[in-house]
Amino acid sequence: MQQTMPDNIRDLMTRLGMAPGATYLNGDWAAATPTRQLQVCNPADGTRLAHVPDLDVAAVTETLERAHEAFCRWRLTTARERADLLLRWYDLIMQHQDDLAMLLTLEQGKPLNESRAEILSGAAFFRWFAEEARRTYGESIPSSSASTRLMTIYQPIGVVAAITPWNFPMSMIARKAAPAVAAGCSVVLKPAEDTPLSALALAALAERAGVPAGVFNVVTTGNPKAIGEVLCTHPLVRKVTFTGSTAVGKTISGLASQSIKKVSLELGGNAPFIVFADADLELAVEGAIATKYRNAGQTCICTNRIYVQDEIHEAFAQRYRQRVEQLKVGGGHDEGTEVGPMINGAAVGKTESIVRQALADGAVLEVGGQRLECGDNFYQPTLLSHVDDRMAVAREEIFGPVATLFRFGDEDEVIRRANDTEYGLAAYLYTRDLGRAFRVSEALEYGMVGINEGMISNESAPFGGVKASGLGREGSRHGIAEYMEIKYLCIGGIQ
Ligand code: ADP
Repeated sequence: MQQTMPDNIRDLMTRLGMAPGATYLNGDWAAATPTRQLQVCNPADGTRLAHVPDLDVAAVTETLERAHEAFCRWRLTTARERADLLLRWYDLIMQHQDDLAMLLTLEQGKPLNESRAEILSGAAFFRWFAEEARRTYGESIPSSSASTRLMTIYQPIGVVAAITPWNFPMSMIARKAAPAVAAGCSVVLKPAEDTPLSALALAALAERAGVPAGVFNVVTTGNPKAIGEVLCTHPLVRKVTFTGSTAVGKTISGLASQSIKKVSLELGGNAPFIVFADADLELAVEGAIATKYRNAGQTCICTNRIYVQDEIHEAFAQRYRQRVEQLKVGGGHDEGTEVGPMINGAAVGKTESIVRQALADGAVLEVGGQRLECGDNFYQPTLLSHVDDRMAVAREEIFGPVATLFRFGDEDEVIRRANDTEYGLAAYLYTRDLGRAFRVSEALEYGMVGINEGMISNESAPFGGVKASGLGREGSRHGIAEYMEIKYLCIGGIQ
């Protein structure tokens, strides 16, 4: 059914260079047919924002073939040419940051200040990998034979299939597309069904920056399973990079392994937030609030379990409760909003059920615990205490605005409990004791540890997890290596 698009979003899309109702394939805007459309709605009030094509398997296969042709040309460019182009892309993102943030909040719901921060952090990956493109140094290796010389070179791996989630519709793409394009790969991106517009805005800016046809493509679809299967099994795809749930990550990894593709997975987490008695209490409370309620609790590095040492447990709980009560919940575009809506009804339903289960199992509701009336997708910032390590709320990734509070006695105990999970993405610890900070962070089985700091993600540091939280690292000097192969050259016959 054809419906009209609200004027303000049409203006936004036009300013960004997007073609309404179309996706970006092989350098062209491909419009949706009337019968194959995917609707995009505002999670704050359910209004329809736009539609994009619901592509089928044939269209995606064709896109992969064109992307491979583009790769064969793109790989021959110099690192400097690729770096210059990424910098132009970066400049355009910076020029359009307000429109990009507005669009992001419209389709995703997060407060506008968080969207602005996401656009800036996403843009930073383009700049970083423009710089890193020129530093993919190989090695010269001392040879054991006088007549040979040994060296390595790094080469782009090939067509990259990228599958991204809705919680960071811009920056999750930036951390994959920027290093892949910098390395000399072409990218076929499948954004999440709920948030394809930010991906298309990035494509529009790529087009304006002069990224050649076929180097960056966006395949929008309402059928992630079928399209995911094509992306993960097509012989021309050499690398699959995925951010999303551990369950889907396992499926993707299984499919990609059939043709031995290189795989990066950034999956779920169950972050412990450990506060020792000697910590700066105010800093710890603010860190816990920021890491818990950012994006309404819908990030993979959100705090899931707060462990507070016995001596300061009551003081922490009281201060934390006060801060939760002060949080302003509302539409992402409303002034002063600190916590926005959740992404959709299913996400709210899952949060409701995990809280209900925890209360039935004996947890105590300190604050929150209800849906809010300002819209269908709003849930109160919530704190549960008297939580037991075996409850589902402690074992599963909550992915909603619900914090759980635990007590602990000593260092060994809290390390054991913090590590007692299948996940291993981010962990946080607060202490003023330097020795303890090192001991505990070295003992935590996590890919990233924030020490007296909750905001750990940035383009120059390696982001990623261990155990069921994934494989590979994004950002940092390691981020570009994920899109390259090492080739060893052995040069003989040297007299
Ligand atoms: P989330 O819980 O964040 O929605 P998902 O893992 O369901 O996490 O989704 C992350 C991304 O994976 C989205 O782009 C979604 O469309 C895609 N996806 C979901 N199911 C599959 C699948 N079976 N194969 C490939 N991609 C999938």
